Amino acid sequence: MSERPLVESYHENTAGERHFADRITFWDETLRDGEQTPGVYFSPEEKLAVAERLSDIGVGVIDAGIPVVSEKEAASVKLLAEAGLKAKILASARTVPGDVEAVIRSGASHIAVFVAASEVHLRYKLQMTQDEVLAASLASVRRAKEAGLHVAFVTEDTVRAPLDFVERLYRATKEAGADRLVISDTVGIMTPLTFRWFLREFKRRVQPTDWSVHCHNDFGLATANTLAALEEGVNCPHVCVNGLGERAGNASLEEVALCLDALYGVPTGIRTEGLHELSALVEQLSGVPLAANKALVGYNAFSHEAGIHTHGILRHTLTYEPLQPGKVGGSRQLILGKHTGKAALVEKLKERGRTLPEPLLAELLREIKVRTESSGKGAHDRLLKQYRDLFSHPGLSDAEFWELVSALAPPEAA
Ligand code: MN
Repeated sequence: MSERPLVESYHENTAGERHFADRITFWDETLRDGEQTPGVYFSPEEKLAVAERLSDIGVGVIDAGIPVVSEKEAASVKLLAEAGLKAKILASARTVPGDVEAVIRSGASHIAVFVAASEVHLRYKLQMTQDEVLAASLASVRRAKEAGLHVAFVTEDTVRAPLDFVERLYRATKEAGADRLVISDTVGIMTPLTFRWFLREFKRRVQPTDWSVHCHNDFGLATANTLAALEEGVNCPHVCVNGLGERAGNASLEEVALCLDALYGVPTGIRTEGLHELSALVEQLSGVPLAANKALVGYNAFSHEAGIHTHGILRHTLTYEPLQPGKVGGSRQLILGKHTGKAALVEKLKERGRTLPEPLLAELLREIKVRTESSGKGAHDRLLKQYRDLFSHPGLSDAEFWELVSALAPPEAA
């Protein structure tokens, strides 16, 4: 009689509904969309430091930025393009000739040409007709191909655009030589089920060979939607370290990689043991603190305080941890606090080879609980005040803005 497994895994029961690509390539957006997080700015040297780490960890494509944004941005892209990294360096361009030329000059080997696709974007933002969008897209794709670049054609807001237009646009740009087709859920309104339907429809109509998705996290579904897209055969997910990005951010590199690796056993090419360090570097350079409860790399991802949990963990880590912290380069912490139990104390005492008799153990436990509950929240209050001041209005302050305006053009006397 065979022994029963310690944990059941039901993922095998749904394997028939997943159609993963043979090879998955990660496209990282931390240095472009991630940098568009309000208040975030990376210097060229900082971009290089992050890019080196991303390349080392196994990311295949790095979006370095939009060269036409500023001279410094163009210099950043050039620096990365000339760094000799294993990852491909990509730069982004609107379907505007000047943007495309700036990418060609930057030395990046890959370009992402982007334009909006939904009616609301066409009418109110671009003020272009579908035919005009199509013409601009084709011109940009052709120019970039002629310059010898690997071309990704991207539409913003793809999943709120009419499917017939999406089909026309992507078939034409594919025909014109676009190497990779990128579908965006720009405002994060997809759900896994609907996204899979959309992608199946796209696949049937356009027959992409190399395709990406760009998912935003407005409803907290960026990772789930990206995973759904991979299940539908998309082979090049867009991700950001720590889930950085516009508004609520993008799908997180850590989460998407570990969903594939740890839950499904799908090879990702990502050296997951380096994720914790990469996450800390991006936290430092972006200045955006990790949420304590961020999946996989947050401070609490492998912390245990409650007595029942700590006791379980000490007996067998599978009780309350889905994977070993070392898998993402993190470490386990047992927290002493209000919910602590005796098992954690016994374990803690071992650090110095100590044991305590039962009555003293009970007293120690009581003392720890009393201290925690009466410790006050002063440190948190001070930190939160600073945090709220900083993040409720990042970037230039109102006072600085009006000072600049006054210096440029003093207000006329009333
Ligand atoms: Mn985006």
